[in-house]
Amino acid sequence: MGLFTPNTEKLAAARERLLAEIEANARETENWTGRPRFSDAVMAAMARVPRHEFVRPNDIAAAYANRPQAIGFGQTISQPYIVALMSDLLDLKDSDRVLEIGTGSGYQTAVLAELGGKVFSLECVDKLAGPARKRLAGMGYDNVEVQTGDGFDGWLEQGPFDAIIVTAAPERIPDALVEQLAPGGRMIIPLGRVHETQFLTLVTKDTDGRVSEQNMLPVAFVPMVRGPMVRRIG
Ligand code: SAH
Repeated sequence: MGLFTPNTEKLAAARERLLAEIEANARETENWTGRPRFSDAVMAAMARVPRHEFVRPNDIAAAYANRPQAIGFGQTISQPYIVALMSDLLDLKDSDRVLEIGTGSGYQTAVLAELGGKVFSLECVDKLAGPARKRLAGMGYDNVEVQTGDGFDGWLEQGPFDAIIVTAAPERIPDALVEQLAPGGRMIIPLGRVHETQFLTLVTKDTDGRVSEQNMLPVAFVPMVRGPMVRRIG
């Protein structure tokens, strides 16, 4: 038994509490999101994905707190309720091709992989992308591709996407992402300037290609940065 061997019973109990908190949060934010509860599929995915395998070893005991946590390189793993909300708002089908910008720990990626057909995830920090790719493969997610890259450009070769999720906040919706969203597709993205309130925004493209935006909930995400970070940190 190593020093960091998780206490599985405590973790299981904490995960149960977390699911109840997410359900309570969903009810509390209905006026913002229009969703008093999340789908059974989303809640099942939240119950299945072991968040303690995505945080740093010293943070395992707090892995099921309904809070964001630091994962290194100035980045965070998102709050579980926000992960559930964003996943729910995408209304994923198991045939969907999904683009994620901001792999981070890979936790949101795993939740998406439980729900969608195939997930393509871009991370600009090479030293986060590599471990996330290994972690997801080790957990058996064979419908995920993680690549180091700049999310502002999207992933042209793999598009168009039925759903796009952005887990870092740009000021405006990147044009490439709108272009790579399939007709009938949905994008969920936090928008706003650094240190100002951001809004989780739902972007939809109808079957004629018309795009509309709907503000949902005030949120706090790390900023979406331009590609050079790959070189500065890597
Ligand atoms: N979904 C992640 C949360 C990651 S935080 C998780 O569940 O752990 C946001 C991530 O976006 C960070 O890892 C950051 O490095 C990344 N990011 C920021 N700007 C980016 C860009 N232009 N392209 C790709 N990734 C970016």
